[in-house]
Amino acid sequence: MRPAILVLNAGSSSVKFLLFAEEAGGLQAVVRGQIEGIRTAPHFIARDGTGKVLAEQTWGEGDRLDHDGAVRHITDFLGELRGELELHAVGHRVVHGGTEYVQPVRLDADVLGALEKYIPLAPLHQPHNLGPIRLLLGQRPQLVQVACFDTAFHATNPEVSRRFAIPAELHEAGVRRYGFHGLSYEYIASVLDRHDAKAAAGRTIILHLGNGSSMCGLEVGRSVASTMGFTALDGLPMGTRCGAIDPGVLLYLMDQRGMDARAIEKLLYNQSGLLGVSGISSDMRKLLGSDDARARLAVDVYTYRIRREMGSLAAALGGVDAIAFTAGIGENSAEIRARICRDAAWLGVELDAAANAQGGPRISTPGSRVNVWVIPTNEELMIARHTQRLAA
Ligand code: AMP
Repeated sequence: MRPAILVLNAGSSSVKFLLFAEEAGGLQAVVRGQIEGIRTAPHFIARDGTGKVLAEQTWGEGDRLDHDGAVRHITDFLGELRGELELHAVGHRVVHGGTEYVQPVRLDADVLGALEKYIPLAPLHQPHNLGPIRLLLGQRPQLVQVACFDTAFHATNPEVSRRFAIPAELHEAGVRRYGFHGLSYEYIASVLDRHDAKAAAGRTIILHLGNGSSMCGLEVGRSVASTMGFTALDGLPMGTRCGAIDPGVLLYLMDQRGMDARAIEKLLYNQSGLLGVSGISSDMRKLLGSDDARARLAVDVYTYRIRREMGSLAAALGGVDAIAFTAGIGENSAEIRARICRDAAWLGVELDAAANAQGGPRISTPGSRVNVWVIPTNEELMIARHTQRLAA
């Protein structure tokens, strides 16, 4: 039997999974899939390594599948399918490791209890991330489980960048900048020297531009600054999240609009960003395809804020050797990349338009002072690598 590692990424309405076989040459993705629409219109799909659909299922409205039911469905499906593969360990994506967990960790009931303490720091994500861990600890206590954190990669940020200018007591209580998308940045950092040895040993800005968007400044492969802060709301505008906002706006909403925390949470997480500005969609593809002035404005606000954050990160790093684009928009939209590169001309970025249209990997001209790359991210592989290491 060949050993296998299962990666689970449980969100508010979906559970995504990827099964890796541990081969001599490395980890091989053999089955991937997800259940979306949990509690509303659940839909399960699983594909093999070539993309062929292996199974698909929907549930009726009366048949409300919850998160535990979704994880059970996935593990039952994989149990039937595995054949010559034997599940060796499960790796979980967990959004928040707080100040304590700055490395991936093997899970037991005590660690799970400690991670539950961070639910107030990420109330929309952390409970869903921890649900499958609790379920599997109960069902299969012998199975090795590992948690990998979105915050951990930024633990190398210097104190000065982690600090809000608020009273120290709040900082000690955990109100500080953490940064997120760390597994994506860690993956890009792990492959950067294959593309660009100078950048890997120097200063790089990575743009993770997807439905969630952020940017990170790296020095010799280590995170020194990022645009996300205490929560994954900060920094760039996103599909439906506002990005950085004057905290005075929140006081105004409370005082003048009578909004409570839940109403503000809904506004800032679900009704803002590209969707809020355009009033049309949170989907970049739709906005780029629209000739509505509001869609254009939303894209302009998005790229303008990236332009400013580029300056901020370049200043924090004291210069830039390379820029790397990743995630849904960063990997797929030549138009957005071209706009960002034009805006970064002052840094010494010179775009190779033909290479950009083809998707890279290198999209800067040979004479460009700053190398620009398109590098697909692979957070699941990063989780699987950590899990394999800790399960050994
Ligand atoms: P992610 O969260 O990384 O899956 O990224 C999702 C975002 O990527 C959505 O806003 C999509 O519209 C966007 N996206 C995917 N493909 C393209 C494309 N070809 N052009 C523009 N945006 C794209």
